[in-house]
Amino acid sequence: MKLLHSGKVRDIYADGDDIVLVASDRLSIYDVVLPTPVPDKGALLTQLSLWWFDRLADIAPNHVISASDVPPEFVGRAIRCRRLSMLPVECIARGYLAGLGLAEYEKHGTVSGVALPPGLVEGSKLPEPIFTPTTKAPVGEHDEFMTFDEVVAAVGAETAARLRDLTLAVYTRGAEIAAGNGILVADTKLEFGLDPAGEIVLADEVLTPDSSRFWPADSWEPGRAQYSFDKQYVREWSASLRWDRTPPGPEVPTEVVAATRARYVEVYERITGEDW
Ligand code: ATP
Ligand code: MG
Repeated sequence: MKLLHSGKVRDIYADGDDIVLVASDRLSIYDVVLPTPVPDKGALLTQLSLWWFDRLADIAPNHVISASDVPPEFVGRAIRCRRLSMLPVECIARGYLAGLGLAEYEKHGTVSGVALPPGLVEGSKLPEPIFTPTTKAPVGEHDEFMTFDEVVAAVGAETAARLRDLTLAVYTRGAEIAAGNGILVADTKLEFGLDPAGEIVLADEVLTPDSSRFWPADSWEPGRAQYSFDKQYVREWSASLRWDRTPPGPEVPTEVVAATRARYVEVYERITGEDW
């Protein structure tokens, strides 16, 4: 297989008409990959994505071909996928206000041109889930919010409307299932591509802690930062160092790695209801 692209966390290989997406145990914070891996992280993210693809298959066709037909050294953390022509939009749905969405709202009162009521705070539930697409910036640049009209200009009116509807439908299903297990999905990022017949296909990873903000429902409280099942623990630990957030990243101590792994395992088990 030919290595097409090595991202911060995943490696993408071409194999004939297919790609093989391999999730590593690498962890990045502030866009810097840390030298210390988190054991099982790649497998946890891969298995969670597969679990979701199954539960979303009636909403959108997906790129999965096989989780077993991959080189033996990658089994468990790799997926053989249809190679698609990716659409140049990061399809984000938000049900709660946090992160860049919150920053944009505080500046403009809108996110991706969607007007929101005044008085919302960090962690607020939105009146209804909204579609807040962004550009897919090249390495080193930041993604920018796109208005719906900008998505129309990029992919055409029909495809733009489909992307919005699919993104909100996936978010709504995902949030419903997660809520049943005590997890709020604050927001999530999806990527879609076109197959050779021109059909829109759900690709990349789905509803993982790397692509979504997951909050425990029982401690949700608007007006402050929420406990989040992601790399927050590592970010907080790194704040105690004198590190300027440029490469190389710091070695992560064993106990911080263990606590981070435990968090990824916990969110997998809570969402799926299955033991890791
Ligand atoms: P980052 O390190 O910031 O995440 P990245 O998004 O480029 O960078 P990955 O997420 O590791 O890196 O790589 C996944 C890449 O594969 C993305 O560019 C994504 O658009 C692309 N991709 C996902 N699914 C498919 C598919 N079925 N066909 C073609 N490309 C795909
Ligand atoms: Mg990516």
